[in-house]
Amino acid sequence: MAMKQFKAESKRLLDLMINSIYTHHEIFLRELISNASDAIDKLYYRTLKDGDTGLNRSDFSISIEPNKEARTLVIRDNGCGMTKDELENNLGVIAKSGSLSFKSEQEKSDDIDIIGQFGVGFYASFMVSDKVVVESRAFGSDEAWRWTSSGAEGYTVDPCNKPDHGTTITLHLKPDTDDEKFSDFLEEFRLRSLIKKYSDYIRYPIRMEVEKHRLKEGSENDYESYREVETINSMVPIWKKAKSEVTDEEYNRFYQEKFFDWKAPAKVIRTSTEGTATYEALLFIPSAAPMDYYTKEYEKGLALYASGVLIMEKCADLLPDYFSFVRGLVDSQDLSLNISREMLQHDRQLKLIASRLEKKIQSELSSMLKNDREAYESFFKAFGLQLKYGVYADYGTHKDVLKDLLLFASSNGDHPTTLAEYVSRMKEGQTEIYYACAETAARAAMLPQTEAVREKGYEILYLTDNVDEFALKMLMTYDEKPFKNVCADDLDLRTDEEKKEAEQQLSENKDLLAFLTESLDGKVKAVTLSNRLKSHPVCLSSEGAISIEMEKVLNAMPT
Ligand code: ADP
Ligand code: MG
Repeated sequence: MAMKQFKAESKRLLDLMINSIYTHHEIFLRELISNASDAIDKLYYRTLKDGDTGLNRSDFSISIEPNKEARTLVIRDNGCGMTKDELENNLGVIAKSGSLSFKSEQEKSDDIDIIGQFGVGFYASFMVSDKVVVESRAFGSDEAWRWTSSGAEGYTVDPCNKPDHGTTITLHLKPDTDDEKFSDFLEEFRLRSLIKKYSDYIRYPIRMEVEKHRLKEGSENDYESYREVETINSMVPIWKKAKSEVTDEEYNRFYQEKFFDWKAPAKVIRTSTEGTATYEALLFIPSAAPMDYYTKEYEKGLALYASGVLIMEKCADLLPDYFSFVRGLVDSQDLSLNISREMLQHDRQLKLIASRLEKKIQSELSSMLKNDREAYESFFKAFGLQLKYGVYADYGTHKDVLKDLLLFASSNGDHPTTLAEYVSRMKEGQTEIYYACAETAARAAMLPQTEAVREKGYEILYLTDNVDEFALKMLMTYDEKPFKNVCADDLDLRTDEEKKEAEQQLSENKDLLAFLTESLDGKVKAVTLSNRLKSHPVCLSSEGAISIEMEKVLNAMPT
């Protein structure tokens, strides 16, 4: 059959794999095993759902078969397999999930080092092989197909003989070099340690024939060796292991592989409950916002498992929008495998779990704020905007969850402040929480209107995001103290005496003000004397509840 070309972007990834530095080479095994496990998941899920496959859970396994003579390593699974079209579509083009985000990151940084950090998929096999053969038979199909490629030149697809469903991948290892012995990947010891390191939690047995020793029959000190197939992985998913048994490094690795992040998470949250809703959850707060986070492309959600079987990659209903940055998974035995997406939305158990998780995330963030301020401030830099949108959205119904998690720049110093901290510093006689809006805190501090407020010794919050003032308007008060824009026309810090004096000045300057108003007709509504200026001669201000800053935002919004 004729040679087919890889799509351009696949070719680039392939080139990158072929030329990757050897510290990363070992991850090819994790990638192929995780694909095998995904393929079994798909078939097992169908088995549980439809019950018509005639298979049992114990029928599924992955097997690793090194062959030193042939210099090949075989990874075999009895999962869903692939049709001819699927072989071409899935292996001939770049995979959607991990590799794509990899690609865009790659364009930015051109740092090959990130290969080692997260899922690069099937093409990883070309890091160690000069030829890859994939033989596959889709479950329920009576045809099998062989995909063969030696890398950049392209690939072929031919019919082949394969009695059982599933996929067999044969890697023809590259010749050894001075720098690296690819033949190490045929050593039992090496393979065992790689499986333990990267794939221990895979929930299907990963089997390999290994050498064992036993006493010779009838002898007391004479040993003989024999070969036996052994299950290498413990099969316990990381979220089912005792907390004390899992290291930070293991959590980080799990997170990075599963969610394609090259940075370790800022926080790992493990929580489980029994009773009205039984579940285990493993959640992560990323340390930086993904590139598409503040775009429509970003999809929130947690992976959902029913008794250890993945039923949905991204269940959006498990997370409120304002915590959409949280990544992770929930495993519950209360959910039916047969549940459809539509039914899930109305599932009471799921709602209960979602509300528990929301509380848990909130309390973890609060404790981070209290106990690790630096980490929290950096978290807030990445995701604070989302929390503020959360206060504003849904008519502020979530403001109680979120109000104590907000940070704002303020005149108090270089570090952002919480509202509670602001209130704790309020001066005797101060009844309102003052704020000023501008593009940056430095600009806000320069607003003429802030002077009089600061002179009184009152602290001012400097709001720099468009959503900030809208969020405060939703909150209305904090600790019963109303928020007040220093630019509002009714801001009044004067004593009675000062007020009387001002009235007199107003009547003295009536003609001048009338003249100015007339001259600026159409540009401003009115010119009046201000009681808020100290060293500045004039300022702009607005009347009513909408500030100038808010007006700008509203005017910029598409109608
Ligand atoms: P990803 O696993 O992130 O989707 P990969 O590059 O690892 O990307 O795999 C590409 C696709 O090839 C998979 O999504 C799957 O559809 C298919 N595939 C790979 N390995 C197997 C396998 N062993 N059995 C069935 N399908 C597979
Ligand atoms: Mg994969």
